[in-house]
Amino acid sequence: MSKAKVLITGAGGFIGHHLATSLKQRGYWVRGVDIKQPEFCPSSADEFLLLDLRDFNNCLKAAAGVDHVYALAADMGGMGFIANNHARILYNNSAINLHTIEAARQCGVKKYLYTSSACVYPEFLQTDADVKPLKEEDAYPAQPQDAYGWEKLISERLCTHYREDFGMQTYIVRFHNIFGPQGTWDGGREKAPAAVCRKVATAKLTSNPTVEIWGDGEQTRSFCFIDDCVEGIYRLMNSGYHEPLNLGQDRLISINDLARLVASIAGIEVELKHVPGPMGVRGRNSDNNRLRQVLGWEPQITLEEGLRRTYAWIESQVRATLYVSRAG
Ligand code: NAD
Repeated sequence: MSKAKVLITGAGGFIGHHLATSLKQRGYWVRGVDIKQPEFCPSSADEFLLLDLRDFNNCLKAAAGVDHVYALAADMGGMGFIANNHARILYNNSAINLHTIEAARQCGVKKYLYTSSACVYPEFLQTDADVKPLKEEDAYPAQPQDAYGWEKLISERLCTHYREDFGMQTYIVRFHNIFGPQGTWDGGREKAPAAVCRKVATAKLTSNPTVEIWGDGEQTRSFCFIDDCVEGIYRLMNSGYHEPLNLGQDRLISINDLARLVASIAGIEVELKHVPGPMGVRGRNSDNNRLRQVLGWEPQITLEEGLRRTYAWIESQVRATLYVSRAG
């Protein structure tokens, strides 16, 4: 039997690009949609449409003829971007998600997976670096730190109500800091692991050991490698579970220790220099009990292994950039 036709929105972005490759390998027909092509290598999608999904008619074109939707499109980035663009993020992401799900309903889409975030969790539960891991039910009473998280929470509820009112099979995943090769690594939207890899690679290649860290670097997070993320998304889409589900690692590490780990992978000594910058919540970790129960699985790739693969790729990118700027 031929496999379903799927739409991946945000297929020009980091996770969407990897998801397209993985779903193609599993035998699906894939349509990717984004406002841009993937930056680092061509998409594996059968069809790639450049469409702005804030526009409802574009969402109808995107969802026409597909059975499943993986909704990843979002105007987003790391803390530097999220902390400084509240209105833009709330407007753009609300428009994208309201229009995409309604277009999917009108086009008769059967399954719809929405990509939410650990940023939905209340700020008051994340004031300590030694934070208690966040369970799915901790999202309420709601107090996300940023507009990015508020929009995610509303779009989660949209999925729940579309399932209750219209019978669309919706799935909601809350990612906790996904990282890996072929993600944004400079320009202002990069997240902490990519930024740290870039800074360490630059330190190594320019023989200047200083690595700048935003804030005191004692803020903590957990980080999940992209291959585990894509595997988890697929397992959730093929489960019968429709409530929000964490997808991340549950190993907590401070940003200072993350930088030291990347430096040891790069084989250099670094001097951490703490500079003012947005830090986000003080600590955030994923409680994976429900993930294990629901999927019978949890992320497998260690932080060390994920960072080795990511650092190697980012070092090659930084090397190419330095080479071009020296040649120029
Ligand atoms: P990304 O920024 O690499 O990908 C998002 C893509 O959406 C981009 O390619 C962007 O061009 C596209 N997009 C933005 N506006 C659009 C529009 N108007 N129309 C069509 N496409 C548009 O981000 P990512 O890391 O791949 O994240 C994918 C999803 O997962 C997002 O919804 C994000 O909020 C969520 N998420 C990611 C993480 C993470 O750690 N990467 C954590 C939590 C949640």
